Amino acid sequence: MSRTVYVNGDYLPEEDAKISVFDRGFLFADGVYEVTSVLGGKLIDFEGHAVRLERSLAELDMGMPMTRDALLEIHRRLVAENRIEDGMVYLQVTRGAADRDFAYPPEGTAQTVVLFTQSKPGLADSPAARTGIRVATVPDLRWDRRDIKTVQLLYPSMGKMAAKAKGCDDAWMVEDGAITEGTSNNAYIVKDGVIVTRQLGPEILHGITRAAVLRFAREAQMKVEERAFTIEEAQAADEAFVTSATTFVTPVVEIDGVAVGKGAPGPVAQRLREIYLEESRKAGI
Ligand code: PLP
Repeated sequence: MSRTVYVNGDYLPEEDAKISVFDRGFLFADGVYEVTSVLGGKLIDFEGHAVRLERSLAELDMGMPMTRDALLEIHRRLVAENRIEDGMVYLQVTRGAADRDFAYPPEGTAQTVVLFTQSKPGLADSPAARTGIRVATVPDLRWDRRDIKTVQLLYPSMGKMAAKAKGCDDAWMVEDGAITEGTSNNAYIVKDGVIVTRQLGPEILHGITRAAVLRFAREAQMKVEERAFTIEEAQAADEAFVTSATTFVTPVVEIDGVAVGKGAPGPVAQRLREIYLEESRKAGI
């Protein structure tokens, strides 16, 4: 059955949805996006994603195309119309369609706003959460404003393919000897009970799941250090894991062929996943 998608004010069957070939998202990757997960028909951390969207847009001299309440309404309608129990809502806002020119189009050019859903039954019960994933490291060759959630995702995509070619599930990116983050997630290690993850800055995306997980960890009296860590430190850690909106907390059991800890999901990652899922389901809207 065809999905209903949202394009610039209209709810349409996916096959009827169209955007211009002149759209700057298509020509210049001049756009930003958000992914909000859905569990039990409820949106997880919608507010966090809306706040980050506003920030990404502002960093690129764009405004919000509509109020947060209007965005929430669209999310909810798509979840309902497409009967999404578990899955996600993808949202993209671009600078709109204009004659191809490196300079931004004139003020008042309509932004393009697209939203669609993807159903992922059993999203919170993935095999990866039980077995953990294996990662390979790749150099971080992205631009220097990774805190803006732009649609320029070619390098992370290439990184993921390079990892898959080595028989791994994902890549961790490395810059100046330190891990920045995963291709589509934030990276963590655990050593002697301390959770270590890279500090916020332009080098990484400020994960919405990261913020929630660190808050829950601190509330549970776990120690957290926000600082850079090396590949060697990660390989010698007791545990490693990643976080993102659609994978929640997922253990990492191997880095560049070296088993992390016992080579199996560790207790800290498992506990944080449980807490995150429980609290997020409760707070879902
Ligand atoms: N880092 C990168 C590069 C990402 O692409 C993502 C998610 O897409 C994340 C981190 C995790 O962010 P969030 O927890 O907001 O999904």
